Amino acid sequence: MNIILLGYPGSGKGTQAKVLSQKLGMFHVSTGDIFREELAKKTPLGQEVGGYLSAGRLVPDKLVLEVLKARLNTETRGLLFDGFPRTVDQAEGLDNWFTARGQAIDAVIFLNVPEEEVARRLGARRTCTGCARIYNTVTSPPAKENVCDACGKPLAVREDDMPAVVARRIQVYKDQTEPLLAYYRSSGNFYEADGGLPPEAVAEKVAALVKR
Ligand code: AMP
Repeated sequence: MNIILLGYPGSGKGTQAKVLSQKLGMFHVSTGDIFREELAKKTPLGQEVGGYLSAGRLVPDKLVLEVLKARLNTETRGLLFDGFPRTVDQAEGLDNWFTARGQAIDAVIFLNVPEEEVARRLGARRTCTGCARIYNTVTSPPAKENVCDACGKPLAVREDDMPAVVARRIQVYKDQTEPLLAYYRSSGNFYEADGGLPPEAVAEKVAALVKR
């Protein structure tokens, strides 16, 4: 099974993808996580994409597609995409890639969260510097302030979760990613979930959608 999670930055895609991929034995593909890892390791790719990430702009489609294809070509598990595709060109590239593999996308799930809620969530988001687990200082804080419950490493505010960059990312989503809703809506396997509910409730809804 291959699944795409769509939604604003901060709509809960990463949180849901982590839960769902574990539950279903799928491979969680987060292009944002891939780029942040490369950046942390100071690889040539990391250096190439760093400026886009810190400015809240999209990495060019051609590069994103190259990186993904190189990583996924030998993967045999079902794929769960979080943060990809982000443009219609990326979606077309993904369709072509699946067709060449004799596969298809089984479900596209849109986590619907109002814009104001997204900005609030990103402001309160903390990310583990060790295992990338996501927290919210208001709704799901760690047991010990600024320390990851899972791996004990410190939590940090992502550079692109700063208010000025959040505003840019929201605008980039509206301009470049929102058109994907129309692209996939007509595909027959498009589903919508209320992403404004608490994470556990969203996870239940998403799991029910996937079972259908
Ligand atoms: P995310 O963690 O998904 O919010 O992604 C963080 C940043 O990585 C984005 O703001 C972009 O700069 C870059 N990025 C992640 N995924 C993509 C993608 N599919 N296309 C272009 N840029 C991306």
